[in-house]
Amino acid sequence: MYNPKSMKAEEFIDHNEILESLAYAKSHKDDVYLIDKILQKARLRKGLNHREALVLLECEIKEKNEEIYALAEQIKKDFYGNRIVMFAPLYLSNYCVNGCVYCPYHSKNKHIARKKLTQEELKAEVIALQDMGHKRLAIEAGEDPVNNPIEYILECINTIYSIQHKNGAIRRVNVNIAATTVENYRKLQQAGIGTYILFQETYHKKSYEKLHPTGPKSDYAYHTEAMDRAMEGGIDDVGIGVLFGLELYRYEFAGLLMHAEHLEAVHGVGPHTISVPRICPADDIDPANFDNSISDDIFAKLVACIRIAVPYTGMIVSTRESKKTRERVLHLGVSQISGGSRTSVGGYVTPEPEDENSAQFDVSDNRSLDEVVQWLMSMEYIPSFCTACYREGRTGDRFMSLCKSGQIQNCCLPNALMTLKEYLQDYATPETRKLGEKLIDKELENIPNQNVRKIVVERLEKIAQGDRDFRF
Ligand code: SF4
Ligand code: SF4
Repeated sequence: MYNPKSMKAEEFIDHNEILESLAYAKSHKDDVYLIDKILQKARLRKGLNHREALVLLECEIKEKNEEIYALAEQIKKDFYGNRIVMFAPLYLSNYCVNGCVYCPYHSKNKHIARKKLTQEELKAEVIALQDMGHKRLAIEAGEDPVNNPIEYILECINTIYSIQHKNGAIRRVNVNIAATTVENYRKLQQAGIGTYILFQETYHKKSYEKLHPTGPKSDYAYHTEAMDRAMEGGIDDVGIGVLFGLELYRYEFAGLLMHAEHLEAVHGVGPHTISVPRICPADDIDPANFDNSISDDIFAKLVACIRIAVPYTGMIVSTRESKKTRERVLHLGVSQISGGSRTSVGGYVTPEPEDENSAQFDVSDNRSLDEVVQWLMSMEYIPSFCTACYREGRTGDRFMSLCKSGQIQNCCLPNALMTLKEYLQDYATPETRKLGEKLIDKELENIPNQNVRKIVVERLEKIAQGDRDFRF
């Protein structure tokens, strides 16, 4: 029985509810009256439930789809302005005991080079990331209780936060590790992590079990209920996602939104972020073996419909996607992207030789961070290195209520401009700096509160003189 408040995976991600919702959406895909009603509700910017959002996803009426895209763009502008938050993944270890069939780190892959960073190697990776200009990382590790126990992860977090190199600092560490216990989540929370990220991969239980034949991750319920344990352990901000291409995208879309509804119903706060990776090539992984892969058009529609359904939830696209695709979905709802990423262990210090491939996935967007920053600014986006909220204690429901009232906007733009200024001073190429200074001057005019604007101007001056880390 479908029950968003249930703590059982199979009840809050109820298979029959998904099937019924899919059938409902299919039978109403040409129902202009209903689609208009849903769009009217969506314009209130309070989101949609999974069933309503599915109707929009299914809709094939050209004019209505244009309205859907236009609304997604508008919601994106209203909530996130033209800011794009930057981050980088950092792979700590690719040892893994699981058998995920879509990932080259699966335990049966005997030819891939296995590597785990020592603390010295980690320091070198972090310095390389700081020298690029990154302030926000997502650390990644396979599941392996012997090689990557929680103590190792905690030690790494500690090391990362402790490194100060020139003006560099990693100010927010998000963590993407396997589902674990409440006790371990509490340890992560105490270590000062930002968001805990865990992708569901697929919400379809039977497919999930086929795709995860061995290892602890094969337990669907334990994996699906992980975010509840994380929140019980005190982690306020959680990031969910699926790997599009494993199952039917409509099913996954419904599952994602039901998961969000469950978190909201039980914990009073939905997911902080939603990631939308698509399956892509890697060592012994060929996307052609997965027959649910989705086109660029469907991908764009998914992003637009997620933006409309959960306006307050950040949306992340990684370098799995090409420059062209990223450009398209930035307009439709994506609020956070990675740049200059390396997806192998130790890859920032020692890029892999061409004949080796120990990356978790092949990167489609190979540009440097500076190139990505310049590209964003050339489209009038503001690359933001802001990490202020969690450092100011604005997490969980506190963050969401500021978000819902729109007050967070008073922080985001000033913080984006000040962190961009730091980037321009410390890391940018002359051309990027020139473009950035112009953009900052222009965007200062968009800070509505005169007092705040005055403070920002003063702080920008101080940053030019060498001060760092101002935030609202
Ligand atoms: S997806 Fe994660 S758990 Fe699965 S094999 Fe890859 S690293 Fe291991
Ligand atoms: S102020 Fe908060 S919500 Fe806004 S960009 Fe910074 S961390 Fe994100």
